[in-house]
Amino acid sequence: MASAEYDNVYKVFDSGEDEVVAVEDLSLTVEEGEFLVLVGPSGCGKSTTLRLLAGLETISDGEIRITDEVVNDEKPKDRDIAMVFQNYALYPHKTVRENMAFGLEMTTELADSEIQARVDEAAEMLSITELLDRRPKALSGGQKQRVALGRAIVREPTVFLMDEPLSNLDAKLRTEMRTELQQLHDKLGVATVYVTHDQTEAMTMGDRIAVLDGGQLQQLGTPLECYHEPSNRFVAGFIGSPSMNFVEMEYDSTVGRGLTDGVTYQFTDEQAEILGSRNRVTLGIRPEDVGLASQSGPDTVEATVEVVEPMGREHLLHLDVGGDEVTASVSGDYNIDIGDRVRLRFPRDRIHAFDAD
Ligand code: ADP
Repeated sequence: MASAEYDNVYKVFDSGEDEVVAVEDLSLTVEEGEFLVLVGPSGCGKSTTLRLLAGLETISDGEIRITDEVVNDEKPKDRDIAMVFQNYALYPHKTVRENMAFGLEMTTELADSEIQARVDEAAEMLSITELLDRRPKALSGGQKQRVALGRAIVREPTVFLMDEPLSNLDAKLRTEMRTELQQLHDKLGVATVYVTHDQTEAMTMGDRIAVLDGGQLQQLGTPLECYHEPSNRFVAGFIGSPSMNFVEMEYDSTVGRGLTDGVTYQFTDEQAEILGSRNRVTLGIRPEDVGLASQSGPDTVEATVEVVEPMGREHLLHLDVGGDEVTASVSGDYNIDIGDRVRLRFPRDRIHAFDAD
């Protein structure tokens, strides 16, 4: 049984004059116990996708189910979910204990003793027991975030929904909380849908990630699947840091060769089969996969060095390859200067081929 499912879901915001399709034909299953990250650039529809599951937005078309039950018309409080927001959304005049208990008091018939027991247990799990009598203004950002998490935990929901919960924390605390959230998830085993625009957060936290762009699901897979086998150029460019390089080429399908401004590249037979008869292609290669070659070969290209950035053990080289900028992360002792002509190897098992723009 899946924890939650989107089935051909649409969300259209219609403000009279213009229509925004924020979510377009989304089908997605949140498996029991998994940590699913929704990731993509600002405005791609992540929050809306999450808010539809929470019941904070109504869907325009399609079906949303939580544990096999259609919830399209259920109010947020009647859905078996708990949401953690970026801004914590705590009641300023209530103590931490009251904040954590309030949702349960309002939405369940649980006895007060049971509610307090759950609050105590969650507080202990989050190491905030000594803060239970304080009010939010006497808490740090990190502590407020724990209270917000505690309030979600006490509800014992089928799914946790988290909308950029760490983005108001400083970088160090954010990294610490990432680990803590994962540990908490492992302990509780509750399915979690987590929204972030930060691909590093997605890569490090997600069991699976759903990459969104323009309201559409671009790829759903494990972080490594999205990294090694991006389904399209958008995913290839979005996942990974520094970003994948792209070189636009004319393509001669009769010999499987790409050509740009004096640079040629010989694709493998397998790649040529996928590329078919088109006459323009985009070659993609990650900076860490680019090598320096001593001899020319079918998988090498000529390049001009434009910038050299020493990064400790590695050098980040910015080069011109037939008019496109390519970044290479190379290690070893190289004597490379700006303006040098060098030969780069794009290993053929490491390149990606996409449709040209
Ligand atoms: P993200 O969370 O990825 O930044 P959102 O889900 O917030 O993206 O927004 C997706 C699109 O829907 C954007 O174009 C945004 O402007 C639009 N949108 C979101 N909420 C509303 C709303 N209440 N009314 C009109 N348009 C909205």
